This record gives sequence, C-alpha cells and structure tokens, in this order.
Amino acid sequence: MPKEKKYKWRREDYQEQTRGLLIVHTGNGKGKTTCALGLMMRAAGQGLRCCMIQFMKSRNDRYGEHVSAEKLGIEVHTMGDGFTWDTKNPEQDRQTARNTWNLCTEKLRSGDYDLLVFDELVYVLSYDMLPVAEVLEEIRAARDRQPSLHLVVTGRDAPKELIEAADLITEMTEVKHPFQAGIRAQRGIEF
Ligand code: ATP
Ligand code: MG
Repeated sequence: MPKEKKYKWRREDYQEQTRGLLIVHTGNGKGKTTCALGLMMRAAGQGLRCCMIQFMKSRNDRYGEHVSAEKLGIEVHTMGDGFTWDTKNPEQDRQTARNTWNLCTEKLRSGDYDLLVFDELVYVLSYDMLPVAEVLEEIRAARDRQPSLHLVVTGRDAPKELIEAADLITEMTEVKHPFQAGIRAQRGIEF
C-alpha cells in the first residue's frame, strides 16, 4: 500500500471529481514506455499513487527509470524471466504473462492506486498470450468499482477491442531510429 503524503486536496474530493481514463500508447515508434513514465512522474508530483507493472522487462533488469522511480516513490514491478520472451519456449512465456497479469489483477482490485501502468500488456495481447476479452472485462470491472482510476497500457499493435474501449490513444510513429543507422542503445536513452 503506497504511503499517503500531505497534499492540498482531499482524496474524497479527488475521487469524486476525477474521470479515470483508459490510455493506450501504441505504434512502432520509440516513446511508449518513456511517455508512460513521464505521466507517472507528473502524477506522483500531484500526490497520486502510481504503480507500473512491466510484462517484458526481466526481474534482473535495472534501468535508469527503476532507480528514479524508487526516489519518487513510484512502485515498479518487473515480472519477466530473463530467459523467457525469446519465443523458444512459448508455454513458459504464456505462464509468465499469466503470472504478470495476476499481479495486475491484484492491483486493479486493490483500490490502492490512482494510476496504474501495464507496460507491454498490448504486446502480450497482440501475441495472444492472454485473452483480450478476459483482460478487458477485468479492466471494465475495475473502472466500474473505481471510476477515478487512470490506466495506461503500452505496446505495439493494439487490438481493435482495446481501441474501442480506450479514451485516449497515442500512436508513436517511427520516422527515424538510430538503430537503422547501426547506432547501438545509448545509456539514459534506452536503459
Ligand atoms: P521507450 O521505452 O524508449 O519509450 P518503446 O516503449 O516505445 O520505447 P518498445 O516497443 O517497448 O519501445 O521497444 C523497446 C526497445 O526497442 C526500446 O529500447 C526502443 O528504443 C527500441 N525500439 C523502439 N522502436 C524501435 C524501432 N523502430 N527500431 C529499433 N528499435 C526500436
Ligand atoms: Mg516499451
């Protein structure tokens, strides 16, 4: 349960006045995850209780954002297994997706958060590792229970059911990426 600090607003008022948004960051261009991190930084500054759950990052990954999130009191969970997502073991990938989704479900049901980010959930859905209908039903139920909840999901190839359900969708378009010029991942930009 995140710590409650003193802010110039009352939680009851906030919840009453807030219309929770379902936000999707999709597309082939870079910026889906970092945009979600930027939103959490903004929201945390407003005293909102934020949590990000990452489907694709390995439990052993410690990127710049993980260090910064800790300093800002933003909860981040990296649920992947370092050896999965290599498509060599689809059954294991499916199980990792399921375990990660179970944590998402727990957070959705807890009512303890104002902003939840499920990073790469869209990717997992687009690869049929979780049933879209089940995921959308859980999200719908959570938004019914807690209408002020903001939810961000990221990943390429958003399925049409998610697009229909969302309030805000931004598609990142690749215009140029340094990878095409053979430039490797840069510290602080990619990790
Ligand atoms: P970021 O985490 O930087 O916001 P992202 O979430 O939009 O990027 P993902 O689809 O999650 O990107 O891909 C993860 C990694 O792949 C990132 O490090 C990103 O820079 C890299 N990447 C994204 N788009 C491209 C691309 N078009 N070509 C090569 N690499 C890419
Ligand atoms: Mg990403």
